[in-house]
Amino acid sequence: LLPKIYAITPTYKRPVQKAELTRLSHTLMLVPNLHWVIVEDAEKKSELVANLLARTGMPYTHLHAVTPATWKIKPKEAWYNKPRGVLQRNAALAWLRANVKPDEEGVVYFADDDNAYSLEVFDEMRYVKTVGVWPVGLVGGLMVERPKVNAEGKVVGWLTVWSPNRPFAIDMAGFAVNLKLFMSKPEGKFKNEVQKGYQESEFLRHFVTSLDEVEPRADNCTKVNVWHTRTENPPLREEIRLKKEAKPPSD
Ligand code: UDP
Ligand code: MN
Repeated sequence: LLPKIYAITPTYKRPVQKAELTRLSHTLMLVPNLHWVIVEDAEKKSELVANLLARTGMPYTHLHAVTPATWKIKPKEAWYNKPRGVLQRNAALAWLRANVKPDEEGVVYFADDDNAYSLEVFDEMRYVKTVGVWPVGLVGGLMVERPKVNAEGKVVGWLTVWSPNRPFAIDMAGFAVNLKLFMSKPEGKFKNEVQKGYQESEFLRHFVTSLDEVEPRADNCTKVNVWHTRTENPPLREEIRLKKEAKPPSD
């Protein structure tokens, strides 16, 4: 039996949500032995997500955890100003700790709803024994950020430009953690109160103490199998105009 991939996806309501989740689900449906843990940033679970999950026919867990208003990005605020998906990822991690058998073979992976995934990224992560790392495209102001691998095939640093001194200068999409290792470190989770760009480092420090333990994947980190794409918020001005017109005059 193949080791299981637990893919964790935070998601929130917005005009593109159904399009994003349709695309992501149609990728994940092609991956054998994958369990999708999807966590809505909402007061309660939505029909939209419940119906979409039911239609996949794949194993999944549907959770929700709402981000308090004070943590949310305000309409005019830059998207990178506050952490996104922290409580949702932590809710998924708590679910795993309560439900996974301690001897189960597999990995934990964070699959945001807006990224673009090649099926190969799942082949690369499946047999990771510690923490596996690989390149991520379209992130950090570069075409690709990648772990630096030496001639002996060891990870020795990070080929990034933005904030390169982070202990793990890697995007959320660029690593997976072995399931048994994950289960053995109950403190490993995300924190709202960390410096910009330090979520990955905050999580990973619980699982590896030296870069020596990290496993480079994707042909020694030379192949790009996942992209940190970001979907434009579509200008729905005609929707807004039609809604205004439909309203009866106020006096
Ligand atoms: N997300 C969320 N609530 C929010 C904003 C984002 O649950 O208020 C989710 C989002 O759906 C995605 C993940 O958190 O799966 C990361 O968010 P985003 O893609 O906006 O951040 P970026 O990847 O650009 O840093
Ligand atoms: Mn994103």
